[in-house]
Amino acid sequence: MNILFLGPPGSGKGTQAKQLAEKLSLQHLSTGDAFREAIGNKTPLGVEIKSYVDSGRLVPDELVSRVVFEKIQQSGKSASFLLDGYPRTVDQAKALDDFAKHEKMALDAILLFDVPATDLIKRLTARRQCPKCKEVFNLVTRPPKVKDTCDACSTPLMQRADDQESVIKERLDIYERQTAPIIDFYKGRPGFHKINAAQSVEKVFSDMVEALKGK
Ligand code: AMP
Repeated sequence: MNILFLGPPGSGKGTQAKQLAEKLSLQHLSTGDAFREAIGNKTPLGVEIKSYVDSGRLVPDELVSRVVFEKIQQSGKSASFLLDGYPRTVDQAKALDDFAKHEKMALDAILLFDVPATDLIKRLTARRQCPKCKEVFNLVTRPPKVKDTCDACSTPLMQRADDQESVIKERLDIYERQTAPIIDFYKGRPGFHKINAAQSVEKVFSDMVEALKGK
């Protein structure tokens, strides 16, 4: 089963994706994590995209799609994917449809994470991430057991450069202008489900599992 996660920054896609991928044995493909890793390792890709990611702007469509398709192709035919943070524009969604058709890859479920805009800024400014294992915490809703330290691997937590308040506003604006139109692109499809992501992590997870039943 292949699944797409759609939703604004801060809607909890990353947290849920990690858990769902583990439960269903899917490969979790987060374009944001892949880009941050490339930036951290100063690879040619990382150098090329750093200014986009740090300022909250979208990386050009062709480049993102190439990275995603290469990762899918490298994993072989039998792998199933959870795409988290891709597609993010209508052109990316069209490129994914073309790729999926060519590779005979089904897009079985498309889950839209729905959260009121007012909650998103609060969630994003309180977000902290482990740079090593990528575990995500929230100072309000999911604080680490030891201050500023990852529960899983004890690495000091970091705030993402693009989680500063000035950049967050830009990212939410970009979401509305460039990403939200893909909701209409996918809305009529059989696997499309809107998930109320303003609920607890556990309730969002069980709603997702319910939505995926029979897929
Ligand atoms: P995320 O961790 O999903 O919030 O992504 C962090 C940043 O990576 C975004 O603000 C963009 O700069 C870049 N990015 C991630 N996914 C995409 C995508 N599908 N298209 C363009 N840029 C992306």
